[in-house]
Amino acid sequence: MCGIVGYVGPKKASEVIIKGLKRLEYRGYDSAGIATINGSLSVKKGKGKVAKLESLLSSGVEGGIGIGHTRWATHGEPNDINSHPHLSDDGKIAVVHNGIIENYNTLKKNLSDRGYSFYSETDTEVVAKLIESFLEEKPEDLKRAVRLSLAQINGTYGLAIVHEDFPDQIMVARKGSPLLLGIGEGEMLIASDASAVAEYTDKVVYLDDGELAIIRKDGYEVHSSQDEALTKEVHELAMSLDEIEKGGFPHFMLKEIFEQPKAISDCLRGRINPAKGTITLGGIESVLDQLANARRIIIAACGTSWHSGLVGEYLFESLAELPVEVEYASEFRYRAPLIGEGDVMIVISQSGETADTLAALREAKQKGALVLGVVNVVGSSIARETDAGVYIHAGPEIGVASTKAFTAQVTVLTLMAIKLAQHRGTIEDKKAAELIRELDQIPGKIEHVLKNASGIEHISNLFTYAPNFLYLGRSYGFPVALEGALKLKEISYIHAEGYPAAEMKHGPIALIDDMMPVVVIAATDHTNDKMVSNIEEVKARKGRIIAITVEGNKEVENLAEFVTEVPETIDELTPLLTVIPLQLLSYYIAVNRGCNVDQPRNLAKSVTVE
Ligand code: GLU
Repeated sequence: MCGIVGYVGPKKASEVIIKGLKRLEYRGYDSAGIATINGSLSVKKGKGKVAKLESLLSSGVEGGIGIGHTRWATHGEPNDINSHPHLSDDGKIAVVHNGIIENYNTLKKNLSDRGYSFYSETDTEVVAKLIESFLEEKPEDLKRAVRLSLAQINGTYGLAIVHEDFPDQIMVARKGSPLLLGIGEGEMLIASDASAVAEYTDKVVYLDDGELAIIRKDGYEVHSSQDEALTKEVHELAMSLDEIEKGGFPHFMLKEIFEQPKAISDCLRGRINPAKGTITLGGIESVLDQLANARRIIIAACGTSWHSGLVGEYLFESLAELPVEVEYASEFRYRAPLIGEGDVMIVISQSGETADTLAALREAKQKGALVLGVVNVVGSSIARETDAGVYIHAGPEIGVASTKAFTAQVTVLTLMAIKLAQHRGTIEDKKAAELIRELDQIPGKIEHVLKNASGIEHISNLFTYAPNFLYLGRSYGFPVALEGALKLKEISYIHAEGYPAAEMKHGPIALIDDMMPVVVIAATDHTNDKMVSNIEEVKARKGRIIAITVEGNKEVENLAEFVTEVPETIDELTPLLTVIPLQLLSYYIAVNRGCNVDQPRNLAKSVTVE
């Protein structure tokens, strides 16, 4: 949440920052601001998107150094005053922040008592005044003032700070919120994630918690919390500009839906050998024995990743015969969980920065469990803090509503489940080989589903103004029902619920009448008869059935008012196909309703606050 960008170098800083903020806008978009230094510090900020900030700057802002912010409010409503940057009383220090200062009230009171003024309702403003207060004791030492300020702060932060009297440097600090340095030729950048710097450099340094860094146009220094100078590893970015632009699509979400065949191919590349029926997962090779002998597996995640975790549970239990629990990371963390040596936690997060998931993994690790990550963003906090893991390699996902990350996560979990099953001897060679061969076919089958996008658009047009939706599924169709309902809520603001089809009789069936669209995910063979009965029950109550089923399932097709077919596949792999029409359904409905698909209200991607 919240995007931070900073630049120092020969270019016009404001232009680099605005471009960077646009790339980070998926992280938060309720307000935006920028501080630049050109002789004196100048700040422009306000409620609204980055484009609005850009129009405020139309007269041009000079200066080769500055910091910018796009906000997802935690403290104080989105308005002009609460927008970042926040300033010191003397107007010389500007601060942008991602995270939450938990003890801001106490700090604010102390500083107010000492005569400092506060204008915003944010937690962030205390940082500017704190630094100012320490600087008054020793005006020449900004680093000392920042370090002493950080020592007073409880909570999480990614911070970027500029000071008018130190016009050649940006200071950044990290605890719990991501920050990286981009190393250019005669220029340096800082950002919350690599997409904001990829245009200028492919060399980055990821900051770790507790570190403080100073960038100048010709270099950088990183210090530990004990103020020791650190030598950090420089990572090479493998991100192309094409990946972070819309490429002719009207929205990132649609682009990412259509990218799924490629995302799954990339995810499978080098990992499966369909001819031999083998799987190679380098990232977990060293812990395979430990994983195979796990007492149990706990999957912790949030949102869409939690849904892929549910698919993972079904896969691990049925193929590898290992007991699995799927936890909301936020709940796991705060309920004294019983976990320890012999247990394995798998955390799933697209960004690798999800605050609750990070907290859950730290808790599990501290209690002695082996912790594995299923993450998209290379070098992210979760990727670095887990003992081992498997990247999903889906490429940057920018649309706030996750699509290709879901299918790539499910792909990775499928690979892990088969690999484990082979290692444990719980799967017949024939079945494993069949699954691996079929996985190889999945990108082509998704392609096939996408070819029918116009059919789904037609259904969407008919249901654009439905106030409620029910999604029903059994077995592998159930997590997909949850995911379909979440997509619709997120981007169309339509109330939707996902249910196990049989649970409907225990409550939700009361909602069904001739106005209620009921999306049924009926693509698994082994539950087909039961699912057909559930569809009959909906039909008997005049619910309007939209069925997602496999080609040739006449039984389901005859019952449904609308049908979308997906190619036949093995039951275990059906989520990879059945979720696609549901992503498209929510997309087209949202567009019809005039919703901002890529930036839905109140949401932000990469939830870096708890
Ligand atoms: N807590 C700060 C605020 O509400 C920062 C939020 C963010 O990460 O964008 O302004």
